Amino acid sequence: MEISKHKTFRNYDQSEDTAAVREHYRKMRSGQTFDYVQRMKAKYLKYDKPMVLWDAMEKLNELIDVSDPDLNLPNIQHLIQSAEALKSDNRPDWMQLVGLIHDLGKVMYLWGCDEDGTSQNEQWGLVGDIFVVGCKLPESCVYPEFNALNPDMSDPGFNTDYGIYEAHCGLDQLSLAWGHDEYLYQVLSHHSSNKIPKEGMIMIRYHSFYPWHNEGSYSHLESETDKLYKEWVLDFNKYDLYTKSPKTYDLEEIKPYYLPIAEKYLGSGPIYW
Ligand code: FE
Ligand code: FE
Repeated sequence: MEISKHKTFRNYDQSEDTAAVREHYRKMRSGQTFDYVQRMKAKYLKYDKPMVLWDAMEKLNELIDVSDPDLNLPNIQHLIQSAEALKSDNRPDWMQLVGLIHDLGKVMYLWGCDEDGTSQNEQWGLVGDIFVVGCKLPESCVYPEFNALNPDMSDPGFNTDYGIYEAHCGLDQLSLAWGHDEYLYQVLSHHSSNKIPKEGMIMIRYHSFYPWHNEGSYSHLESETDKLYKEWVLDFNKYDLYTKSPKTYDLEEIKPYYLPIAEKYLGSGPIYW
């Protein structure tokens, strides 16, 4: 994989779309409370809507991620670009598949609504960098000036370094801001023919957790295992970030290569969303 030396990513200051990205994060930081996250889990983790992988991929053709300052292409193009970069680096087949599907949790918009921030119009419960709910928001979040807008930050039960958590309890004990990472992770965890290795499942679950994997926040909540998890997520992050380019692909043209890999790790039946 070639990493461009000229283009910078995650630049939140210069893009013409900055106002929209900033507004997205204002809403996300204001709305993603501990209570909100528990409600969304109860509402969206039903596993009762069958849809095959390739139909889910097609549905992402209609979605442009408002939180991403680097890409104005339908999300499916980003997925294919990530997978193709993993493929050209000869990374394992399961990791290529993870590249292809890592953002597929965004299909939640199909049954989402504006009020929850899970729709095409309102994406603050769907996309964007995630953080822990139930304890203090770190300054390492993008637009940290919005942290104070979160109602939990004026709740003494939540606004301390540990909040409701124990020291070094481990990432899997934490509630994270609700979005496509946790949604896909839970859907695949409940998919009976899922054989994606643990590493891949961790890459899916935490790829948007930038304050943790990129900024070093939350080390006081990390377990020993999470240090290994971070290496996996950072390895994957290169392909999530640096492969963004204007080159576009046709799903039908890449499908013959990825279909056998998808069937190997996910079976051929529908996934229940
Ligand atoms: Fe993502
Ligand atoms: Fe992505």
